[in-house]
Amino acid sequence: MKILLTNDDGVHAPGLEVLEAIAREFTDDIWICAPDEEQSGMGHALTLTRPVRLRKHGERRFSVTGTPTDSVTMGLRNVMDGAPDAILSGVNRGANLADDITYSGTVSAAIEGALAGIRSIALSQVTSRDGEAGADTFDAARKWGAKVLAPLLDAPLPRRTLVNVNFPAIAGEAVKGIRAVRQGFHDYSRGTVVEGRDPRGFRYYWFGLQAIEHSLDHGTDLEAIDEGYVSVTPLQLDLTHHASLGELGERFA
Ligand code: MN
Repeated sequence: MKILLTNDDGVHAPGLEVLEAIAREFTDDIWICAPDEEQSGMGHALTLTRPVRLRKHGERRFSVTGTPTDSVTMGLRNVMDGAPDAILSGVNRGANLADDITYSGTVSAAIEGALAGIRSIALSQVTSRDGEAGADTFDAARKWGAKVLAPLLDAPLPRRTLVNVNFPAIAGEAVKGIRAVRQGFHDYSRGTVVEGRDPRGFRYYWFGLQAIEHSLDHGTDLEAIDEGYVSVTPLQLDLTHHASLGELGERFA
């Protein structure tokens, strides 16, 4: 089995090392093509307005001066010697749950893989806001990564679908199991904008993340994570709201 690894935290991110260790439990035919710098929050962005550079860091290990989507494209077209059997993206430092998925470079790299017709799985480690000093952020991902991937690597996945996996922000031994759940939603989402002045006195704004309020709805990724389970959510590329299509069509008839 040949696997391509990527992420949005950058080629030197600790989560990519975690992912490589997980992938090595299945194969040694591992290729890495990831952004050279952190690209969190870039979503499915494709670099069109400037050239990108490909850098070789070692055998089957490359970075791209671009986005996660650029990295998958380069990996498939210019780096690998044939299509991989799977693309794994992550392990992201931070959750990719509910409505946050469309911001996610981690999930979007897997979307790009699904568009290319390749089995693609995004993996994210939820981080606690009051993380204990010295605690291993990726402990749950390390202990549960191979357990969740084994069934996913040979599950029948329809074309134009991908899988989104999140590990809860607790020690691996405390994780209760794995749940297949649907994507949840936030009742209310509000980012922060921090205003400040740079060293030359000019005003700047810096977007941040804020604790997002949501009611835990039964059977969602948010609920599974909150209850200490690894969440597994199949996603589809078709964003059409099929239930509205007929009525909307009648308005244009
Ligand atoms: Mn990230």
